[in-house]
Order: sequence, then structure tokens, then C-alpha cells
Amino acid sequence: MVPFIHMNAQLLNSKAHDCVFCKIVSGIIKSDVIKETDGFIVIKDINAVSPLHLLIISKTHYDSIINTDEVFNGNELLQLIKVISQEFGIDSEGFRIVINTGPDGGQTVMHFHAHLMAGRSFSWPPG
Ligand code: AMP
Ligand code: ZN
Repeated sequence: MVPFIHMNAQLLNSKAHDCVFCKIVSGIIKSDVIKETDGFIVIKDINAVSPLHLLIISKTHYDSIINTDEVFNGNELLQLIKVISQEFGIDSEGFRIVINTGPDGGQTVMHFHAHLMAGRSFSWPPG
């Protein structure tokens, strides 16, 4: 695993590191960044499953939560979720956070991200 900040453009563009979220973080793929902190960017999911569906993407490449390290700031992530919920006015109605991990978790993009979904009620248990 190579931290994003240590990647050069050549590696980022190479087949060896063909990661769509690294390309969004680096600006190679254009995207509307809704919010940004030291460690994360927030964008809209291209395939929204709820009226509000955001992705909170770590700037550093980790394949999944399994590969995160001591530099990964989980508290920054939780505080960011709180701030987003206040700014989007979903803190009273609520929302769902999902971090799909690995094959059983249904993860399709192997770069750490959390889904924030809101604007409708969600059932439990998930499918
Ligand atoms: P997961 O299945 O948890 O790995 O989620 C990956 C998510 O990334 C899916 O909900 C996709 O719709 C979303 N996604 C993939 N490519 C893009 C993109 N270029 N811009 C925004 N969202 C994307
Ligand atoms: Zn990546």
C-alpha cells in the first residue's frame, strides 16, 4: 500500500494503480468536491440510492478499512459526518453510514470510503 501523498503522477496514471478514487482525489478525474478536510474529500455518489448519497473518501489510498494505519484519523471522519449532517439538515431525521468492506461487505471500489445516505428511511437488516 502506497500513501497517496507519496505517489507521483506517473504511478497514479499507471495500470499498476488504476484507482478511480485516487484519480478523483488528485483531480485527474474531475468531480464536484462538496467538502474537504485534511484527510478526506466528500463527493456525491454517481449512482445515488437515496435523495442524498455522499461518499466520504480518504485522501490517502487504503484498499479498505482493513488496511488503515495509525495515520488514519477516524475521529476526523466521525466529526466530518456530524458536521455534514448539520450542514445538510439531516441531523434530526437521521441518516445511514455504510462502510462496505471486502467481498462479503459488497465493496466495489477498493479505496477506503464511507457512504452517507439520507432523505428516506432505511430498513434493517440490510440485504
Ligand atoms: P462500494 O460498493 O461501497 O465500494 O461503493 C462504491 C461507490 O462508488 C458506488 O456507490 C458507486 O456508485 C460510486 N462511484 C464509483 N465511481 C464513482 C465516481 N466516479 N464518482 C462518484 N461515485 C462513484
Ligand atoms: Zn485509491
